Amino acid sequence: MCLICDRINMIKNGTNPYFVKELKTGYVVIGDNQHFKGYTLFLYKHHETTTELFHLNRQERALFMEEMTLVAQAVSKAFNAEKINYELLGMGDAHLHWHIFPRRTGDIGDYGNHGKGPVWWYPMEKMYSDDNRPSPVELEDLKKRLLCELEKLL
Ligand SMILES: [Zn+2]
Repeated sequence: MCLICDRINMIKNGTNPYFVKELKTGYVVIGDNQHFKGYTLFLYKHHETTTELFHLNRQERALFMEEMTLVAQAVSKAFNAEKINYELLGMGDAHLHWHIFPRRTGDIGDYGNHGKGPVWWYPMEKMYSDDNRPSPVELEDLKKRLLCELEKLL
């Protein structure tokens, strides 16, 4: 079993507190840790044999990319990002899922190239520290803000 499939099952049975919205190709969820305020993920609906973008047929891939782009636009608006960073990795969980990071000047401190660089130049233990987990009230606020912007675009 994979962590992403577990989270999707929680969405389906109504027990995933991070769930924001279901789109045609995937699910929008707020990230567990919020060092990058508004960090959001877009989880592709299927796992099975589709673990690369090139495994999807053109029509499905175009829709997945389009929906991910709309999610990014909503994240940017909802959380006042200066720039969005997009990541599709999967060495931990091969399940297709986009990491969508709203970036702001100074958000990686002095790490990286004097504070400039990708999110993963910020130390992992800080990025995934329990200090960055939103409280239930903060989580509801993040979800509400994102859903509001997302619905304007759909
Ligand atoms: Zn999976």
